[in-house]
Amino acid sequence: MKRHQNNAAGFSRRLHFPDDEKRLPWLPLLLDAYAIADDVIDTAITNEINSSNKRLACGQGCVSCCEHHKDLPLFPHELVGIYWYVKEKMPASEKPGLKERLGGHKAEPPCPFLGGGSCSIHPLRPLGCRQFNVFGARCLPGEDPYYTRRDDVLTFSAGHIDRAFAAVIPLYRLNESGAAEAVRLIRAQILNLQTFNWKKLAANI
Ligand code: SF4
Ligand code: SF4
Repeated sequence: MKRHQNNAAGFSRRLHFPDDEKRLPWLPLLLDAYAIADDVIDTAITNEINSSNKRLACGQGCVSCCEHHKDLPLFPHELVGIYWYVKEKMPASEKPGLKERLGGHKAEPPCPFLGGGSCSIHPLRPLGCRQFNVFGARCLPGEDPYYTRRDDVLTFSAGHIDRAFAAVIPLYRLNESGAAEAVRLIRAQILNLQTFNWKKLAANI
């Protein structure tokens, strides 16, 4: 499953790692960013359900997107979070499988973090995974509804989700005077999780 249950509003689901957040100055900013994004996404989902009577198709155990999508957006600040989570927080029992998947990843689906039918980095999964939500029918194997039925894919204002990028501006040490330009520069650093070289992380697990 690529997103958590849509059962709370606000930032009540912000994750907290008090000791780690004291030690790692970037971590609270990243967790804030994900909390902001989750709030924006949940609001957009609720608005869509209320206005269209559609039901959210995404849910537990539904992983066709993780199995088949070629383009999985990833940003440098998210990469830092994934490295930290995998090295310091992931249950030891999950590490051997992930090490093998990352080491053998061939820059194509499935997502190497998909293991045992779920996302092994779920608490720190990227924004792109969080925001891709589908209404109506669950995706068919191999289907990307962005191309097959765009109207069923959640849309929302880019300006709203920009608040999640604004939360991590300090991590990029940009010399920009305006937040909007800083966010644009961060967005421009987009990577693809599928084509990223995960061998280094695999070697350090
Ligand atoms: S990181 Fe991979 S496994 Fe996790 S939600 Fe995203 S696509 Fe799915
Ligand atoms: S409905 Fe589609 S996008 Fe949503 S979780 Fe299932 S496979 Fe992924």
